[in-house]
Amino acid sequence: MLKNRKLRDGHIHSPYCPHGTADAMELYVKKAIELGLREMTFTEHMPLPNTLQKFDLPQDAAISLEQVKPYLNEIEQLKEKYKKKIKIYKGFEVDYIEGLEEETKKLLEQYGGEIEDSILSVHFLKLGEEYVCVDWSPNKFGEIITKCGGIDKVYDLYFETLLKSIKANLGEYKPRRIGHPTLVKIFQLRYPYTYKNHKLLDKIVKEIKTRGYEVDYNTAGFRKPLCRTSYPSSYLLDLLKHHHVKLVLGSDAHTATDVGRDFNKVY
Ligand SMILES: [Zn+2]
Ligand SMILES: [Zn+2]
Repeated sequence: MLKNRKLRDGHIHSPYCPHGTADAMELYVKKAIELGLREMTFTEHMPLPNTLQKFDLPQDAAISLEQVKPYLNEIEQLKEKYKKKIKIYKGFEVDYIEGLEEETKKLLEQYGGEIEDSILSVHFLKLGEEYVCVDWSPNKFGEIITKCGGIDKVYDLYFETLLKSIKANLGEYKPRRIGHPTLVKIFQLRYPYTYKNHKLLDKIVKEIKTRGYEVDYNTAGFRKPLCRTSYPSSYLLDLLKHHHVKLVLGSDAHTATDVGRDFNKVY
């Protein structure tokens, strides 16, 4: 295990990502080596359950089933080629979607055996009979606030869903690292709000701790113009540290130049 957590980037995307860039995977690896990183995990968005397709959601959120094999094969080749310089892990960022646990579990069972390191993230929220995407766009976020009946309700729903993700039964391949746990703050400079439901956050940390899960200490928020902070930040970050939850830095890079980005801004 690495002593210095800044030498590992545990959250990296790839050209297989439909909303990412065409940068070759090898460029990401070269950038990581150039920065002196010792370990990196490619965590491409795992294919989503089919059920989601009928909702008004971004259609480019994850890779398709056909792309899984080529994606994993390419990592395998890079792993071998650069094994003397950096340790590369095969991973996925898996979506937790309330109500679609069984479908998610089945997807994980198909590929879980090949995955070495993975992240469980909440991007989608179940709102009545539909699903909404938290990080789609500022305007879409505004619509979610209206539908929920206030920004405090959106935050509550996000953190309640996060808590469910931690407790969910997704089978033996369930990821053990919780992705960007305050993603709901992505547009906070347009929709400012100071979260007050500390009891819910306390519960989240307790459940993470009980299961020995890790947390993705995600620096992507720093480069989001309406966020400018890490995920997690403030109260939740302090609480996780207080309870000695293992934080794994992740750049969430969707371009090679973003590998390891802003790791110097976190403490
Ligand atoms: Zn992405
Ligand atoms: Zn994510």
